[in-house]
Amino acid sequence: MHAAELDAADPLAPYLDRFVASPGLVAYLDGNSLGRPLRASVERVQAFLTEEWGGRLIRGWDEGWLDLPLAIGDDLGRVALGAAPGQVTIADSTTVSLYKLIRAALDARPGRTEIVIDRDNFPTDRYLVEGIARDRGLTVRWVETPHDGGVTPELVEPLLGPATALVVFSSVAYRSAWFADIPAITRLAHDAGALVLWDLCHSVGVVPTPLDEWGVDLAVGCGYKYLNGGPGAPSFLYVRSELQEQLRQPIQGWLGSARPFEMGQGYEPAAGIRGFLSGTPPMVGMQPIRDMVALLDEAGIDAVRAKSVALTEFAVELVDSLLPDAALASPRDAGRRGGHITIDHPRFAELMPLLWERGVIPDFRRPDGIRLGLSPLSTSFAEVEAGIREIATLLATL
Ligand SMILES: *Cc1c(COP(=O)(O)O)cnc(C)c1O
Repeated sequence: MHAAELDAADPLAPYLDRFVASPGLVAYLDGNSLGRPLRASVERVQAFLTEEWGGRLIRGWDEGWLDLPLAIGDDLGRVALGAAPGQVTIADSTTVSLYKLIRAALDARPGRTEIVIDRDNFPTDRYLVEGIARDRGLTVRWVETPHDGGVTPELVEPLLGPATALVVFSSVAYRSAWFADIPAITRLAHDAGALVLWDLCHSVGVVPTPLDEWGVDLAVGCGYKYLNGGPGAPSFLYVRSELQEQLRQPIQGWLGSARPFEMGQGYEPAAGIRGFLSGTPPMVGMQPIRDMVALLDEAGIDAVRAKSVALTEFAVELVDSLLPDAALASPRDAGRRGGHITIDHPRFAELMPLLWERGVIPDFRRPDGIRLGLSPLSTSFAEVEAGIREIATLLATL
């Protein structure tokens, strides 16, 4: 089918208009790295500055600001994560949220000496695990994964045992887009007595992950990818309710304490998910996330996933026909693939500046992969075709 027919038949096409226009843009294929701003967010941030911050000043903290991270967390949990209320909150950056939950999980498994993570996980995840392991004299057990795949129960199982404290994986791999079998891997880790932390950065807002149903212990995810929170938007974290009492996070700040405004001696964590907060929440930075959560609620996460699958299927077809010399470095099975694809070609690095100049914006992942991130609510089939045709045209001129 042609892009025009696919766009005409796309029930989510009307949502394309909700995003801020970008002059000179031909194809934005990087919505998995930095989502586009919603027009509603421009208004919301402006209203926040003038009415809430400007109008209410410090009274805002008593008038709802302190509850907002948890309220957005509950909405996000309901709309995109299959999480009952009280388990999700907007938090610090993804890196800091990961650090806090890794440390908390390790403390809850005293005497166990190993952390399992994959070699292809996102750098921040690997660096944190390596640093914490070094501090505590723990051993990192590495899962080696195929270039076009990711972690599977078969690859993980041999590394689990009575010494495993924690397993840290990404739901969708940032490069290959491999969508892990979260329930099966979580079960294996639990059978070994370990806790599991899933990094949802590349799935939240595009691939549904029913965390409660799948028995996930801990999760974090990014606010500026498919949640369109804007550069540096805060992350969210999920702590399964049964674990909230047992886990203590290490950054004991006043706003995660039981009675912050008493300014008392000695730290006592707040009950529930609030105890996983540390300092003053980033009020401005979390505003745009509200609009994307509302939009996901309106469109429905299953419809978003259906369009995502159609977009990546279409992209794979185009790559096969227009770029026969490029290799798909992502799963061919849509059921095991997230919202992006990576294609490899030895000359892709040379192409990147030319593409960006022409308004075609994918990103590049070493050694020679172009990553096409297709955010369903802001990306048309026509854009996907225009982008891949431009890659083919430019490659032919090199
Ligand atoms: C984007 C991303 C991060 C980013 O972390 P920041 O602290 O926001 O820079 C972390 N992990 C994964 C898997 C990501 O994709």
